Amino acid sequence: MQHTSFERIGRRLFLEGLVGGNFGNMSERTEQGYLITRSGSYLDEPGDLIFVQNGEEVPKNASSEYRVHQAIYRDTPHKAIVHAHPSCAVAASLLMDQIIPLDSEGKMLAPEIPVVSGDPGTEELAKNVASALKNRNLVLAQGHGTFAAGKTLDEAYLYTSLAEHATRVLFYAGRLTPSSL
Ligand SMILES: [Zn+2]
Repeated sequence: MQHTSFERIGRRLFLEGLVGGNFGNMSERTEQGYLITRSGSYLDEPGDLIFVQNGEEVPKNASSEYRVHQAIYRDTPHKAIVHAHPSCAVAASLLMDQIIPLDSEGKMLAPEIPVVSGDPGTEELAKNVASALKNRNLVLAQGHGTFAAGKTLDEAYLYTSLAEHATRVLFYAGRLTPSSL
């Protein structure tokens, strides 16, 4: 099954440098489960999406990060998820326990961006990310990347972009410093 919004958002993620190589993944909730990008696929050329049906075994070719997507759909009302590796946001996640944006959009839309732990693909990461997204749209996995969620892929993309913008502004302003300082 193909989906044009996946390609459109995937292209934007590449154009803005929010993801590189064949990293990152995206999904959308459906009535019976969710559609997710394939393991190892390029987000701007997602090809066939994988359908994961509620209560059924996850197909082997689904993104290796499916556990996080599954936990978000189980524990929150979000309908779409974008996971990317924006480099400045990742750097910020190594320095700070939570990101407090100073730019106007960041202050308005994501006044506190939590940083959570957990290795890629693990239940620990899934649990921590889903818990952080219960009452917000954006979280950072430490040293790894963003998980952004919303009503649509467009909304999840916007929060992904915002994470990189907010952390770049902190960097340019000389405010990207270790939490303990
Ligand atoms: Zn990742």
